[in-house]
Order: sequence, then structure tokens, then C-alpha cells
Amino acid sequence: MTKTLDLLIAGGGAAGLTAAVYAARSGLDFVLVDLASSMGSQITQTEDVDNYTGFGKINGMELVMKFYEHAKALDAPMINDEVKEITKTDELFTVKCEKAEYKAKSVIFCAGASHRELGIKGEKEFFGKGVGYCAVCDGFFYRNKTVVVIGGGNTAVTEAVYLSKICKKVYLIHRRDSLRAEKVLTERLKNADNAEILYNSEVDEILGENAVNGVLLKDGRKLDCDGVFVAVGIVPRSDAVRGLAQLDKYGYVIADESGKTSVDGLFAAGDVRTKMLRQIITACSDGANCVESVNSYLNGKL
Ligand SMILES: Cc1cc2nc3c(=O)[nH]c(=O)nc-3n(C[C@H](O)[C@H](O)[C@H](O)COP(=O)(O)OP(=O)(O)OC[C@H]3O[C@@H](n4cnc5c(N)ncnc54)[C@H](O)[C@@H]3O)c2cc1C
Repeated sequence: MTKTLDLLIAGGGAAGLTAAVYAARSGLDFVLVDLASSMGSQITQTEDVDNYTGFGKINGMELVMKFYEHAKALDAPMINDEVKEITKTDELFTVKCEKAEYKAKSVIFCAGASHRELGIKGEKEFFGKGVGYCAVCDGFFYRNKTVVVIGGGNTAVTEAVYLSKICKKVYLIHRRDSLRAEKVLTERLKNADNAEILYNSEVDEILGENAVNGVLLKDGRKLDCDGVFVAVGIVPRSDAVRGLAQLDKYGYVIADESGKTSVDGLFAAGDVRTKMLRQIITACSDGANCVESVNSYLNGKL
């Protein structure tokens, strides 16, 4: 018979690994399940994190490894598997994964978010052939080449700054007349000699033959380029709880600071939940708060 855990943590990014640290220290019987050996966090997609208190500037992958090693040092059990569906019957959760199935009295769901697609012609056709969503992962292939970054928020500007250090020329294409990104990031981009921001511009189509060779703007202009990075926002990875918990119209799991969702015993942490600011520090905070909520729930106080 399958053993019943106190807690299953679904997702091992900033929120999940912090929850694992707090759960281990609370003496809970739990497992953390992550589809990517605990290194699938969005943080790995950024070169420098310079707003996580106490670290000054740290490489994204290095920070995730620090989170991971912290949880490991506390003997937090971590399993590499994909959570497919979470259901609840008779006060117990069943967590169906790709390779196994778990029973748990409570669940912290923290599967994060992934990039939003733009949905324009050429995006799917040239994915991996010039179209990408992660400059840190793929930027190397565009050394001394020309690239286009689409978007105007923190992620887009971060990607453009990173690429400006590698590429010959970087165009940032944004549909509005000003960027939404933090001032410090915007300044960094404006200081890069090889970066150009095209405001009030929208890409209509990504062009190419076997690989990307340009973009067509809605005003009819054509820009030659070797690569296109799409950074137009994120979508929550909430599929596994879609039939269980209440989601908002964008697919975020509705939860407050305690992580409490519409389902007793199911808590949501990090980017996947409704919240004001999606950052590493707030995801970590959520992970800690959720374990506090789980302890109260298991003791019949929540
Ligand atoms: C390019 C980029 C740059 C960024 N820069 C910064 C920055 O400088 N500072 C900052 O504070 N924030 C930054 N962020 C935002 C930050 O990365 C997120 O806010 C933070 O990682 C959210 O943590 P999380 O735990 O909710 O999600 P994540 O850290 O993304 O972790 C989610 C985890 O869940 C796993 N997972 C997903 N689905 C499943 C499933 N079905 N089954 C099992 N596991 C699953 C994933 O593999 C992943 O490990 C950046 C994000 C991006 C994309």
C-alpha cells in the first residue's frame, strides 16, 4: 500500500526549495517533486540576479544551486518526476506523476511559470532555428550576430542587455512608447552602444527560409536579423490543479499570502499564484509561509 505523506511539494524552484528547507526543519514527512532535477527554475534563465538581498550580484544558476544544496544539506527528499494531476478524495491528495503516484495529507503547489508565446507567423516554424525564449540558454549561438528581442518588461530588457554583450547588434522591439522594465535595467540597455530600442513597433511575422533571417514589422518595415528572442510575459504552469483548485482568468491559482487555495490542504506558492510581484524573494517567502500553513492545517488549526 502507498505510504501517506504529510506533504508533497510540487515544483523545486525558489518557492519549492524554500518550502523544502522549512519542511525539513519542521520534521514533516514529505517529498519534493520536480520535473527537472530541481534545476528547472526560471532563475536559471538569467545571468545576473542583483536584487536578492544579501548576495549583491549572483549568477542565476549559482543561486539555484545554493537553494538546492541548502535543501540537500537538510536531507530534504527530492524526486525527479513530472506532476501530471492532483486530485483530492476523503481528505487525501493523490498526486499522479509521470513515473509514480503519491498520497499526501497536504500539497504545496509551486510549479512556477513559463514564457508566453507571441502567436505570430514564423514563431513556431522557426523555434530552435532562430526563435528562442531564453537568452542565457541560447545567446551563445548569436555571438557577433544581429538579434531582435520582443517585449518591454524586466525580462525583455534583461535579455537585451545580456545579448548586447555577445551580439553585434540588438534591437528591442516594444509596442508601447515607454518600457515597463525597472529604471536600472532600462539605463543599462540605453548605455549599450550596440542596442537600439524601437518604440511603438510590433512584429507581424518572423521571416526566414531554413532559419530566421529577419522580422517584418506591422508598419511594413523589415529588419534583417539572425535570431529573435520573445519575452512578452509569462503563463502559470497550473495545469496539474486545473480541475481541482479555483484559478483566475489568466490561469493563476487563487491564493493569498498564507498560500491557502479554494481547496483545504492545497497551498500555492511562488509565480503560479495570484500575487502582486513575481520575483525570487517573494517566491521564497511564499514557500516559507506555506509550510507554516501546512503545519497549522495538519494540527487542525487552519
Ligand atoms: C529571464 C528571467 C529573469 C529573471 N530575473 C529575475 C531577477 O533578476 N530577480 C528576481 O527576483 N526574479 C527574476 N525572475 C523571476 C523569478 O525567476 C521567479 O519569480 C521565480 O523563479 C519564481 O519562483 P517559483 O518557485 O515560483 O518558480 P520557478 O523558480 O520557475 O520554479 C518552478 C519549478 O517547478 C518545476 N515544475 C514546473 N512544472 C512542474 C510539474 N508539472 N511537475 C514537477 N515540477 C514542475 C520547474 O521545473 C521549476 O523547477 C526572472 C525570470 C526570468 C524568466
